[in-house]
Amino acid sequence: MSEAHAASYRAREVPAAAQVIDGVWAVPIPLHGSALTAVTVFLIETRAGLVLIDAGYNHPSCWTAFQRSLTTIGHRVEAISTVLITHNHPDHVGFADQVRGVSGARVLMGAADDFATMHGVRGAFLDQLGTALDLTGAPRDIVDGMYAEAVKVAEHHERLRLDGALPAGDIELEFGDVTIRAVHTPGHTYGHTVYYDTRGLVFTGDTMMAEGPTQLAIVSRPGDDPAGDLLRSLDRIRDLGAGIACPAHQFPYRDVAGRAEQLKAFHQAEVDAVRDLVDGPATAWDVARRMSWKKPWDELGPGTRRFNLVHTLALLRHAAGRQAP
Ligand SMILES: [Zn+2]
Ligand SMILES: [Zn+2]
Repeated sequence: MSEAHAASYRAREVPAAAQVIDGVWAVPIPLHGSALTAVTVFLIETRAGLVLIDAGYNHPSCWTAFQRSLTTIGHRVEAISTVLITHNHPDHVGFADQVRGVSGARVLMGAADDFATMHGVRGAFLDQLGTALDLTGAPRDIVDGMYAEAVKVAEHHERLRLDGALPAGDIELEFGDVTIRAVHTPGHTYGHTVYYDTRGLVFTGDTMMAEGPTQLAIVSRPGDDPAGDLLRSLDRIRDLGAGIACPAHQFPYRDVAGRAEQLKAFHQAEVDAVRDLVDGPATAWDVARRMSWKKPWDELGPGTRRFNLVHTLALLRHAAGRQAP
């Protein structure tokens, strides 16, 4: 199944829903106009109803595609009892409210990604983003432009209402015959959670795709260390002993421990590269433009520039050792 899914990804096509193992389905949802092509949600059959991992993007086309795919594999939204969200990004929380509206499912997510409780702790999403962008040292007009872009999708992050917030640490969730361990894996976001199905699968959200780097947290406050968080989270995922990783983008893959080690080495090398670039005080804005990305800085799209800038901010902090583990 993974091979067909991988081939579709490389051809920039969205594959049909397919089984990963008996009773676990990958359901790709097209993301029109996005470089990511698709977000894959996963459906787990249990004696306590269907468990849905992530909930796509909030667009009528995504909700329709999801319902159609379920029909083709013989399932119905009404049978979903629980929605486990890996993290609070728009392409993962999209139709959680609609699923709950139809089936009465519980919606659960890591507490640190729940802005309803984080308003008084970490601050609202846009407050944190404003802080992060200011910390990058980018010129005012660049910061303002990047902030304005993010405002367009922020509202949905902030108003998501959970039925339960998962505290940091491992939580065992029982669904009849299926046990799923929620494992707090910050780095991409502060409440990012991977879900380990004890039959040997781990649903890795945006933390460990088959290829490419992991985006470090888009928002941050001065004391945060998303790069250090991610390096520790990759260890935790490696140590689960899973045989199959099911990421929310790209395609499922094996050799989970090997991939965790590979990503750790990649991000450690990024930290080293930043350290080499810095000779004295430097801002993320200075460093990001000198780093090597897929294309020269000025040719990157505005969204990619924003993501790379905050990623660099995180690398720079970790390199400075202020937040070293
Ligand atoms: Zn994400
Ligand atoms: Zn995503």
